[in-house]
Amino acid sequence: MSSCTRFKVAICGGGIGGLVTAVALSKYPGIEVEIYETAHKLTELGAGIGLFSRPWEVIRRLGLEPELLQFTEVKPTDGPVTAFRYRKSDRPTGVEFYTLKTQGHLMTFHRPDFQKVLLSHLPASYQIHCSKRLRSYYQRNGHPITLLFEDGTEATCDVLLGADGLKSAVRRSLLGEKVHRAQKEERWTDAADLTALIEPSWSGTNAYRALVPGDMLRSKHPNHRVLTQPTQYLGKNGYIIAYPISKGKYVNVVAFKSQHELEGSKFDGSWVCPVDKSEYVRMFEGWEPEVLSLLECVEKPLRWAIHCVKPLPTTVSGHVALLGDAAHATVPHQGSGAGSAIEDAYMLATVLGHPTTTQANISRSLSIYDRIRRPFSHRVQERAKLNGLYFTFSCLEIKFDQVPEDKLLSKLKLLGQVFTKNWEWSWTTSIEPSVQEALKLLDEDPSETNL
Ligand SMILES: Cc1cc2nc3c(=O)[nH]c(=O)nc-3n(C[C@H](O)[C@H](O)[C@H](O)COP(=O)(O)OP(=O)(O)OC[C@H]3O[C@@H](n4cnc5c(N)ncnc54)[C@H](O)[C@@H]3O)c2cc1C
Repeated sequence: MSSCTRFKVAICGGGIGGLVTAVALSKYPGIEVEIYETAHKLTELGAGIGLFSRPWEVIRRLGLEPELLQFTEVKPTDGPVTAFRYRKSDRPTGVEFYTLKTQGHLMTFHRPDFQKVLLSHLPASYQIHCSKRLRSYYQRNGHPITLLFEDGTEATCDVLLGADGLKSAVRRSLLGEKVHRAQKEERWTDAADLTALIEPSWSGTNAYRALVPGDMLRSKHPNHRVLTQPTQYLGKNGYIIAYPISKGKYVNVVAFKSQHELEGSKFDGSWVCPVDKSEYVRMFEGWEPEVLSLLECVEKPLRWAIHCVKPLPTTVSGHVALLGDAAHATVPHQGSGAGSAIEDAYMLATVLGHPTTTQANISRSLSIYDRIRRPFSHRVQERAKLNGLYFTFSCLEIKFDQVPEDKLLSKLKLLGQVFTKNWEWSWTTSIEPSVQEALKLLDEDPSETNL
């Protein structure tokens, strides 16, 4: 460490959360950063991603906007725009019933393009260690944190940020520390409750993700709606979201199949695996023709059994903090998981980079992050789950398949208004009030080592 280094941060996980954290920390001199990633090479899933205006504001603040705009046809705007059109599609004749208007566009990308831009913004001094799977860590007051990797090697750091996703090893260790403490103090119920939070739980929903080449869809169905218009096709217990990315090169398609009654049960089988498209095309039999023609063009879909992290009582411990999916993986029905990871990253950099944060009070700064971000993320988890119920006609006590035809449109419009209300925080609110709150807390009494 050079003499002007304030502290050394290790980021475990080089996904969107980890890389945005590194970019955000690079704005603060004196913080050394190393990234540890289990994959032998940093890669992103070849799928689409959409960001609403709230995380997009962070992207802008980090100076990433100009380069990212080279990879999308979507132009940022602050005004009201059409985000998605909604159809009830689980019948031979679909019904268009709602247009979702948002403040600012959903900014859509091919994930590898997004990652490329993040990597290009990392300072040359930041080291990325690939093929490093963290097994666990340990920390003792007044000593650096020791990181233990599966290959038997070790490393040290002053701050550990767990951006290692759904199956986070950092979360396992962090909750393990809390369990150990509870057991020492003979708080057996607390120990059992904390242990139950370590493993993610299945949401009862599976997502089938694929990219359809734009040219293929265009040649077979030149006027297919999703070539130009982001669309959600809703039905009982399932829905499909589709939108163009990479300037029309692909259409991102995600088909969801939900068995809500199985939420919390164990998922048998691989959580992420390629499947034959017949596995899910069958599930959409009887849906309107434009859905079937889109699904026909899908090749090699990946099935994701959607798992979530149960709400944690804390995302920090001493000099360690969790962010993104490691802290609060959620169902993707508000397109907010990566956005939340981006906000976490920005807030972590704000508290760690603040001039009052020193080696002596790192845990205080991380507590401020936890105090502000955790309740917010829990609310996002609840809201995303609700959207999943709305999109699959499993809510509002309306049996949509029994509504008379002459009343259907008005009931569906009501549904549209309800899910908009539940979702509009994504484009009507800003991270700024949370940043101001953090800055106020940081300024209060930096000599305090804990909140
Ligand atoms: C179908 C679907 C659609 C989605 N669409 C959207 C969307 O449109 N918009 C949106 O905002 N979000 C969306 N999301 C959610 C979003 O993909 C995630 O929330 C986001 O990618 C989480 O980022 P992360 O960096 O926290 O975790 P990850 O992307 O999972 O990254 C974790 C990284 O850590 C590495 N790692 C794991 N374990 C270890 C270890 N032990 N040691 C070292 N490294 C490790 C992994 O290899 C990986 O690189 C969607 C999710 C799904 C399932």
